[in-house]
Amino acid sequence: MTMRTLFTRIRSMAIAGVVMSVTALGAQTVVAPPDNKYTPAQDVELGQKAAREAEQQLPMLRDEEVTSLVTSIGRRLVESIPRELQHPEFRYSFQVVNVREINAFALPGGPMFVNRGMIEAARTEGEVAGVMAHEMSHVALRHGTAQATKATKYEVGELLGAVVGSIIGGRVGGAVAQGTQFGLGAAFLRFSREFERDADLLGSHIMAGAGYNPLEMANMFKTIEKQSGSGGPQWLSDHPDPGDRSAYITREAQMLRVRDVVRDTRAFTQAQARLRRMAPAPTTEEATRNATGRRGSAPPSNGGRRGPSGDVASPSSSYTSYTEGNLFRVSVPSNWRELPGSEAVTFAPDGAYGNTGQQGGNFTHGMEIGIARNETHDLQTATEELVSTFAAGNPNLSRPSAYERLTIGRRQGLRTALSNGSNATGQQERIAVFTMLLPDGNLFYALGVAPRDRFSEYDGAFRRVIGSIEIMQ
Ligand SMILES: [Zn+2]
Repeated sequence: MTMRTLFTRIRSMAIAGVVMSVTALGAQTVVAPPDNKYTPAQDVELGQKAAREAEQQLPMLRDEEVTSLVTSIGRRLVESIPRELQHPEFRYSFQVVNVREINAFALPGGPMFVNRGMIEAARTEGEVAGVMAHEMSHVALRHGTAQATKATKYEVGELLGAVVGSIIGGRVGGAVAQGTQFGLGAAFLRFSREFERDADLLGSHIMAGAGYNPLEMANMFKTIEKQSGSGGPQWLSDHPDPGDRSAYITREAQMLRVRDVVRDTRAFTQAQARLRRMAPAPTTEEATRNATGRRGSAPPSNGGRRGPSGDVASPSSSYTSYTEGNLFRVSVPSNWRELPGSEAVTFAPDGAYGNTGQQGGNFTHGMEIGIARNETHDLQTATEELVSTFAAGNPNLSRPSAYERLTIGRRQGLRTALSNGSNATGQQERIAVFTMLLPDGNLFYALGVAPRDRFSEYDGAFRRVIGSIEIMQ
């Protein structure tokens, strides 16, 4: 099981009140930034740190012509960000990643990364600008830290760890190691439908101000959908369609006047021609596999050791108690160690870790316990939603089929069991999923993971751990 950050799992499960209002008939929609407990300076700090990690981990395309095209589109767009959303401390920057998937991402405070595959797939410069304007809108509206604000537990220091961990753990250890697309998706990169709609609308305003037809954004989203075999799904899973995406972008576009229309896009066609002359871009998986090799694949920094399943000891029959902040107490087999993540906590025996060398990478035996944002009052629906977020990084994960009712921390809970192909070993594993709604409505969950052939041995320990849980809120 790939451990993703808590934030990956935080998804608005309802399309909450859309943060916008129509000022007057025929006027463009007003898009406002959501609540945010972080400062713009913290956005910058988090984003810069995450950007440095991304630059180390991903192959940057250091080609002056292509980079200058993306930079000039980006600068035009930045100038059209509405005044009230311009944060003077933000530092917008634009880089091209030399990978094939049609994807792009932007980090808090301004660093933006556009995949070469995106530039190659676009039919016009305006389509590239559309995706960039959408990404830029998430940055200007500070959606990344707004999502973190919704999480109850984390302070900025922990959040920083979560971002970096998500880039390394989520991408190299997770979806990419699995052979799928760029799985960076985490704290700052996977948004609720409400935020998506706001980013589409603000993006259309920014495009119009910069001289691009906002309809080209909708066109690019269609292109991404069509090319779902080569990286579209990752962009779409980070930026879910709120529904009627094309329709409302089209309606909004009718309210907008495009100023200073960009007519000469020779730079775009030349950049595309230049890319066609280069060797084809690798997939992100190929690129990061090589990167990992170059970095020497040092032993995991958490002291873990990857061994065949048989090397991992059985759960001890004696138990040790842990208290997690003011959230919960739990007892786990005393030969399991706590691997504190910056969000969820994992308890695992020696040798049960994947080889990504990061906390919160893969683990093959043990339990992860955490809390996920939830806005539904129905435990089973919330559980299914949680499982579907795991499925994004674990394409071989089965669907829950049967539920068992049980008690967790004196509240009613559910248990279901899933099968999965382990990211760490490639072998089949079983995952017991335990869930319960907390008094504040969020979802408490625990995942017990073991190789299929040892699951029956571990399942007793999982149940005993669950039986020990005391909720402290
Ligand atoms: Zn988005």
